Amino acid sequence: MSFTSMKDMIQRAGEESCTLWEIIRKEDMLERQVKKEESMEQMYSLFEAMKEADKSYNGNQRSLSGLSGGDGSKIQQAIQKGIMISGDFISKVMEGAIKMGESNACMKRIVAAPTAGSCGVLSSVLLAYDAFYHPTKEEITHALYMAAGIGDVISNRASISGAKGGCQAEIGSASAMAAGAIAVLRDGTATQICHSGAFALKGLLGLVCDPIGGLVEVPCVKRNVIGAVNAITSTDLAIAGVESKVPFDEVIDAMAEIGEAMPCAYKETSQGGLAMTETGKHYETMK
Ligand code: SF4
Repeated sequence: MSFTSMKDMIQRAGEESCTLWEIIRKEDMLERQVKKEESMEQMYSLFEAMKEADKSYNGNQRSLSGLSGGDGSKIQQAIQKGIMISGDFISKVMEGAIKMGESNACMKRIVAAPTAGSCGVLSSVLLAYDAFYHPTKEEITHALYMAAGIGDVISNRASISGAKGGCQAEIGSASAMAAGAIAVLRDGTATQICHSGAFALKGLLGLVCDPIGGLVEVPCVKRNVIGAVNAITSTDLAIAGVESKVPFDEVIDAMAEIGEAMPCAYKETSQGGLAMTETGKHYETMK
């Protein structure tokens, strides 16, 4: 896709008297030369793949390093015991995010959104929303378009790569995508969608990429929870009428600037942060 700003996306949607997700769909149809039905089916198939990935989670499985696995089951059991204080919906999101992150660490099939490391953010939010609010297939598809459109703007304007922009570019972008998606599911206006994304990304600005042993496991798996929950609270803020003082496009620019200035030690090189803690070094030597 070729969206370089949310402002441009809103303008194009206004010119064609359609919603943001519709203009994103039109762009997809044009770019891939596909009909509306094909575009929508393909988009929805991503949600089906997310559902499959969630279903195929195996709590007994461990990653090769032994760093990941089993925590999704712990959350699931804690929910069943009624000992979580986060509430049913947020707890479900937490469970889904951890499970997806662990599945990725165990090399299972996941949906990168925007990256494999951040695969649990959008998926957990959508899967929990589906379980609690039962949206239609079309509504889920609209939300996916919105997420894709936001991811497109961020990748064209800044980056979605931890190696280029730190974890803010991965988990931060995923969180903004999920916030926009949920805002669509909640009938948010284009302005509210932008505020949702802006809040989500703002909250994670400066987040460094410091994976232990260079593996997408620690802190990656749990950061998916942070990104997912952040997306939900960000959307709630926007739907409640709270406005981001800094427009979404400018927040994305700030992320790009921070990513540029971020030392290489914090951009997927595992030369700083958690990777260089005593524990991090211990796992490095075990590789
Ligand atoms: S810490 Fe790095 S590798 Fe892990 S999720 Fe964040 S950006 Fe991806």
